[in-house]
This record gives sequence, structure tokens and C-alpha cells, in this order.
Amino acid sequence: MAPRIEKMMLTPEEIREGVWRLARQISTDYEGKEILLVGVLKGAFVFLADLARLITVPVQFDFIAVSSYGSATKTSGVVRIKKDLDMDVRGKHVIIVEDIVDTGLTLAYLMRNMLARGPASLEVCALLEKEIPGKSEVNIKYVGFKIPDVFVVGYGLDWAENYRNLPYIAALSKDSQ
Ligand code: 5GP
Repeated sequence: MAPRIEKMMLTPEEIREGVWRLARQISTDYEGKEILLVGVLKGAFVFLADLARLITVPVQFDFIAVSSYGSATKTSGVVRIKKDLDMDVRGKHVIIVEDIVDTGLTLAYLMRNMLARGPASLEVCALLEKEIPGKSEVNIKYVGFKIPDVFVVGYGLDWAENYRNLPYIAALSKDSQ
């Protein structure tokens, strides 16, 4: 049985405001340039769709799917690419779009992998960043919200493929973690 939704963390209005802020920042920083948004599937698909429609500079999309080994709710840091990009990122201004950065291990792997492909520039835009001690050092230029170390679902984020369609972000009950 799917665990209970316990606590509202971000309302649809708060999310909308945060996504607007990120889109404005990105549009200003990349004025006169074209960007390639690389969405990390599946979790980032809702965020990416909203973000991209608010960015005012020309945007291209691509997607990558990775799996991180670990328990249902924690990453081990061993990452495998399940679906690679379709496009060549060489010479492009790439922004990796992530739903949530927890330990930072998945992102550290993705950054190394992308940099090896020779983009003109590389930045990260994450909707959520967990505030946890001992996080691996990744430079996230665009962060929507910092949240405490709880397992969250909604707005693209799942628990065992459930809850991705919720329009808000909520914490699950403790016994699901
Ligand atoms: P990291 O490598 O930073 O520890 O974990 C990143 C990935 O783990 C995220 O892209 C996401 O897929 C998953 N993850 C980490 N924390 C959460 C969470 O609170 N909720 C959900 N649904 N997924 C999470």
C-alpha cells in the first residue's frame, strides 16, 4: 500500500512563484544566447515543462534518464544511464534541470559526464535542494527551494511511481522512509 501524504511542503502558488524566479534569472543570465535544457527523467519533466515556458531566450530540450542504485528512498551514488541524450551538446550552453538534489551524487556524476562532451557552458537548475550534512560538493547555480531532509513527492517526484501528478510538493509519512 502506498504511504500517506503527511505534510504540505510547497503549495502550487509557492512552486509557481519559485519557477518564475528561476526563469527570470536564467533569461537574464543567458540574454542573447540559446540554451539547451537537459531534463533528468522522470522526476524533472513537470518542472522542466513549466520552467521552459517562462524562459524568454531560445530554448532547446533534451532528456537523459539515469538510475541510482540504493534503497527505495536513498541513493548509493552508483549511477547508470538508462536513456542517453539524443543531441550532441558540444558547443551548446547546457543547463541540467533536476527535480531534487539530495546527496548530490547523481548530479556530480551527470556533471562529469556532460563536461566530457564539451559544452560551451554547463550549469544546473534544481527545483529542490535538501539541506543535509556531508553533501558532495556540486555547484548548483539555480535553486528553487531549500528543504529539510525529508522524502518528498509531487510535481513530478514519485514514491514507487506514485504521486507524480500532485500539483503540490508534500512529505510522506515517516514509516515510508
Ligand atoms: P542524490 O544523488 O542527490 O542523493 O539523489 C538524487 C535523486 O534521488 C533525485 O533525482 C531523485 O530521483 C531521488 N530523490 C532524492 N530525494 C528524493 C525525495 O525526497 N523524493 C523523491 N521522490 N526522490 C528523491
